[in-house]
Amino acid sequence: MRPFTSTIFAEITELARKTGAVNLGQGFPDTDGPEGMLRIAQQAIADGVNQYPPGPGIPELRTAIAEHRRNRYGSEHDPDSEVLVTVGGTEAMSAAMLALLEPGDEVVLIEPYYDAYPVAVAMAGGVRRTVGLTQGPDHRFVLDVDALRAAVGPQTRALVLNSPHNPTGTVFTAEELAVIAEVCRENDVIAITDEVYEHLLFDGRKHTPLATLPGMAERTLSISSSGKSFSATGWKIGWICGPAELVAAVRSAKQFLTFVGGAPFQPAVAHALRNELGWAEQLRSDLERKRDLLSRGLSEAGFDVLSSEGTYFVCADVRPLGFTDGAQLCRELPDRIGVAAIPVQVFCDHPEATRHLVRFAFCKRDEVLNEAVERLHKLS
Ligand SMILES: *Cc1c(COP(=O)(O)O)cnc(C)c1O
Repeated sequence: MRPFTSTIFAEITELARKTGAVNLGQGFPDTDGPEGMLRIAQQAIADGVNQYPPGPGIPELRTAIAEHRRNRYGSEHDPDSEVLVTVGGTEAMSAAMLALLEPGDEVVLIEPYYDAYPVAVAMAGGVRRTVGLTQGPDHRFVLDVDALRAAVGPQTRALVLNSPHNPTGTVFTAEELAVIAEVCRENDVIAITDEVYEHLLFDGRKHTPLATLPGMAERTLSISSSGKSFSATGWKIGWICGPAELVAAVRSAKQFLTFVGGAPFQPAVAHALRNELGWAEQLRSDLERKRDLLSRGLSEAGFDVLSSEGTYFVCADVRPLGFTDGAQLCRELPDRIGVAAIPVQVFCDHPEATRHLVRFAFCKRDEVLNEAVERLHKLS
């Protein structure tokens, strides 16, 4: 674990606290999820739903997850053998790595990557290979498909795909998904997809699970979570769906990581998946507007702003402001103008490619974003 001990998140959070900065570093919302969902969790606690739930998750939630995948994407999952409830998307990812990898097996990650992935690979004794997203035309990131093909070989056991993508806000295109699927099929690689932002796509984009592409359902483990869709990141109710034999392997690992979690939250999330998708759609359109508000503010402050197509995040190039290093700017920002953000290079094995980029979170109340924008104007 030595490579993973120090995190810039802790450093920036501490700086933000000391300086009273508006913290756009942390990716969690500052408002609550749907009231009906919160009420069901409160009632569940009052009703005594406080002991270990069943190992795979309560049947009601597994059924709601399977229905949601069917209604939204046309995917079929047996709630008993092909759906597993986990302690957030994070445990699902770690359990999947532990289930699939033998020591020395390789896992392809797309970088910048979510910070939990390299740790999950390392804890399972795997070796990561990374493929970069590069800044393409139209201010969006594109997958380097040649590098992807080159990264996959006989040692590759799994590939992780996160779309919509944290930290860039990229939604992978149909063409990119097709290449990823082809590479997985041709090299007998298992895809592990992180779809925690599946409801948070902007400008009319639709989420396409990799598992719905030809030949992929039998080799894909699809992960999602209630945290981002229903603004309940502290509940840590996630899930993983896929073919029965892969889910059984993940269940074995999960059993000895946490066994179970979040008994009173499970019926509340089942309710949310069935009855609060309208609420999630409202969240999506609010976030789209907040993305515009912050992107405009960053742009007026002198940043070159990249397009955010989904998630909580937008990335900005610091070079027009005379900086070359996003990490240096992030260390100065709280003190200089009272805003905190995260440099993208910390999510990379090859930090030079993203040294000029900084990630800002816009999943905050309008008054918080407006205050941040006002302060950002002091930069130029
Ligand atoms: C927030 C986040 C997660 C964590 O999900 P939990 O359900 O809180 O464990 C996983 N992946 C990505 C890309 C995220 O941004």
